[in-house]
Amino acid sequence: MADACLFCRIANKEIPATLVAETDECVAFRDINPQAPVHILVIPREHVPSPSAVTNPELVGKVTQLAAELARREGIAESGYRLVMNTNADAGQTVFHLHMHLLGGRRMGWPPG
Ligand code: AMP
Ligand code: ZN
Repeated sequence: MADACLFCRIANKEIPATLVAETDECVAFRDINPQAPVHILVIPREHVPSPSAVTNPELVGKVTQLAAELARREGIAESGYRLVMNTNADAGQTVFHLHMHLLGGRRMGWPPG
């Protein structure tokens, strides 16, 4: 765990967040600045800075699986949703603890901005 990492601290419940799911490996919570009616962040408990630093592909599988489960639970699995992992500056990554955005509940534009 990285002491100063915001998402480690959320996973450890040192900082409050609206948690929506917890598993042995992952935590999911609502984004503080939602960009869609459903905007949830799914993170591994393990501190991995970004997709570039992944050494255990199973972990990303678990994150994806939980995001898909939450999409079902939030009622957007059929209508559709977007899973996003912003990586480094050009993509606008601001928190350097791997996280998957689950976005849905409205029609998304493509290409993304
Ligand atoms: P990214 O830009 O992909 O690194 O995404 C970081 C996301 O974390 C942004 O969508 C922020 O709104 C969100 N965020 C930042 N601080 C918090 C927080 N304390 N609780 C929930 N979401 C947060
Ligand atoms: Zn972290």
